[in-house]
Amino acid sequence: RPLAVLTSIVRLEEKLLCKELERRHVPYEVLDTRRTVFRGGTKLPYGGAISREISHTRNTYATHLLERGGVRVVNDARTVSLCGDKLLTTLALEAAGLPVPRWMATLSPEGALDALDEFGYPAVVKPVIGSWGRLAARLDGHDTAETVLEHRAALSNPTNRITYVQEYVDKPDRDIKAYVFGGEVVGAIYKVSTEWRTNTKRGGAPQVCPLDDELVDLLTRASAVAGDGVLGIDVLEHRDGTRYVNEINHTPEFHGAIEVLPVDLVARYVDFVLTRLRE
Ligand code: ADP
Ligand code: ZN
Repeated sequence: RPLAVLTSIVRLEEKLLCKELERRHVPYEVLDTRRTVFRGGTKLPYGGAISREISHTRNTYATHLLERGGVRVVNDARTVSLCGDKLLTTLALEAAGLPVPRWMATLSPEGALDALDEFGYPAVVKPVIGSWGRLAARLDGHDTAETVLEHRAALSNPTNRITYVQEYVDKPDRDIKAYVFGGEVVGAIYKVSTEWRTNTKRGGAPQVCPLDDELVDLLTRASAVAGDGVLGIDVLEHRDGTRYVNEINHTPEFHGAIEVLPVDLVARYVDFVLTRLRE
């Protein structure tokens, strides 16, 4: 039975993963989540699935529906549901004793302003669900905070009322993105940028980040919290060397990493998926 590659928008990442499956003669089908019909009580004809859906909402439902249809998915529904939400991820990381940036949360934007003055600036407010740094804002003081919160209050999606604030981690023009597949650290890059949001989609330049024991230990523990899937883990490193786990990407992009990492990230990704599906 073929493997399902669950996707809607096909990025470079999905193209490379499909090419690697072809190279290994693994039969697969691209399952467009926008056109698939799921029915109660029906087994789905796939030998497993890779979730590469870009929309968190569709990814959550698709992985649950596939699992109900008897299909094992990498990453599974639990990992997708947890990691797709930055606040829930922070709670799980903190509960497991991992270092996270100091944070606060309110369930409405209006409720955050007074608390922010006490929390301190600079701070970062960001949507609990989202990527590429979209709608994340750095608040340098009371006035920016007031304006940004007003804007957030005007956003129509109710999830955007959840106001998740982190301290701004004063970092040396770069962040770490690490690739951890099945609990194993495959490689890490620095995303170097003079902008505070270093996402490669925003022009952050990839550079190899050397692994040390402390970083590997941090990443392994973070991966276990997410459920040991195919993960891209964001680590923020303060100028003083303190490291914090910022978020865990469950459908990691790697267009930047493959330019610089010596390992074959795509092959390792497919290795892990196939191993997991055969378990
Ligand atoms: P996304 O899912 O959009 O990548 P992130 O939480 O990783 O969301 O935020 C995007 C980028 O913004 C991060 O990669 C990092 O460069 C920067 N950033 C986010 N939060 C902080 C923070 N608390 N302190 C410093 N930089 C941050
Ligand atoms: Zn990120």
